[in-house]
Amino acid sequence: MALHNARAATDPAADIFTSPLSEQPLSKRAMPDLPAPPNVVYQLLRSELLLDGNAAQNLATFCTTWTDDEVRHLMDLCLDKNIVDKDEYPQTAEIESRCVNILAGLWHAPAGTDGAENAMGCSTTGSSEAAMLCGLALKWRWRDRRRAAGLPTDRPNLVCGPVQVCWEKFARYFDVELRQVPVEPGATGLQAHQLREYVDENTIGVVAILGVTYTCTYEPVAEITAELDRIHEETGLDIPLHVDAASGGFIAPFLHPDLQWDFRLPRVASINASGHKYGMAPLGVGWALWRDKAALPQDLVFHVDYLGGDMPTLALNFSRPGGQVIAQYFMFLRLGREGYRRVYQACADTAQHLARQVADMGPFTLLYDGTGALPAVSYTLTDPGSVGWSLYDLSDLLRMRGWQVPSYPLPPNRQETVIQRVLVRHGVDRDEVELLAGDMRRAIKRLDEGHPRDSTRVGFHH
Ligand SMILES: *Cc1c(COP(=O)(O)O)cnc(C)c1O
Repeated sequence: MALHNARAATDPAADIFTSPLSEQPLSKRAMPDLPAPPNVVYQLLRSELLLDGNAAQNLATFCTTWTDDEVRHLMDLCLDKNIVDKDEYPQTAEIESRCVNILAGLWHAPAGTDGAENAMGCSTTGSSEAAMLCGLALKWRWRDRRRAAGLPTDRPNLVCGPVQVCWEKFARYFDVELRQVPVEPGATGLQAHQLREYVDENTIGVVAILGVTYTCTYEPVAEITAELDRIHEETGLDIPLHVDAASGGFIAPFLHPDLQWDFRLPRVASINASGHKYGMAPLGVGWALWRDKAALPQDLVFHVDYLGGDMPTLALNFSRPGGQVIAQYFMFLRLGREGYRRVYQACADTAQHLARQVADMGPFTLLYDGTGALPAVSYTLTDPGSVGWSLYDLSDLLRMRGWQVPSYPLPPNRQETVIQRVLVRHGVDRDEVELLAGDMRRAIKRLDEGHPRDSTRVGFHH
């Protein structure tokens, strides 16, 4: 069955598409018996990958889809560097800690008595791993406090709004009750006044989201900490806040520098962000930072020998590529604060430009117009019962032109509202958004003409 590979290797002059390997389907279940020429395999896989959506038109993802050539070269240079080998690759370890310092500065970590920041932090594979580590730190601290007071430690809970699935994973994997506060009518995230009903002595922490995945708005972090301060005063419950800044952590410091969401608020114990989202690093890097040593229980930290010294490490993974962290440092050096600001100002302007067009198209109501939080737009059908088509139909038609614009219901208690969301990131330019708007108009026209005004079709794709 796999013998064809043997002949492929014998004629180096053969055209790739006349090679035996290309004249039949690729092996899908069993490993081939024999090797094959790398250029042939490369071309065939490259062709197969064309069936994936193209990342530039994927307006659903927060993740980096545009990369400088220099970053590709650095990633190539680092292909063989394992970030866990701090001893063998001390400079990669050093660059990781420079990135942590830079983030501690961006997120206003308080300085210690020696003037240096007290913040602790590490790189991770993404915000999900960072969320696990930050969640564990909250759980450990709560458990230590409870044990010291001689109280039971068997029923920890975490209070949050419409969080990304990583927090549901954290709760299940580490045996914590997730208390998800339902979204109120008209709201897009957790609101401070809702907290009181959900927190108690077993609450390890509250998570606030800077950049809610569904709608791209910020939860009001400062109001949430103020409410937790009042709860502390009135009830004695002293509950720390974690900020999931997966996307907003790389937007707010540049576009909303006066917004109080980070370590400027004393109750913020830890922050996570995705380097591979608005950090502009390639896929595979996130960051977890704690405001100081007290926020990070020392028994979560492992100590490894590092050039004869001591290197603390904190991670769920062991081996992991180092290139993403190097690329993150490249982006910090290459763009600087002003560079990040300009990139995201351009993205926000483009998002607002699209929002105006979406509003003009007629059938939509904007939920978020790209002002004040992430560079993105979200909207819903104003009157889904009367247009005769659904946002899912519109997504399907846009997909025919290569655009990936997701439609999905809001989280409970707003699950009856279906929305569409477009993310504008580095590399999504004004012309591209104009082309998208043109295709949206044509698709709407087709849907209006093509479908009878039959409300039973609404929600057809559920
Ligand atoms: C994307 C996202 C995550 C998960 O981040 P990864 O880097 O993909 O692991 C967590 N929280 C929020 C708010 C997100 O947007």
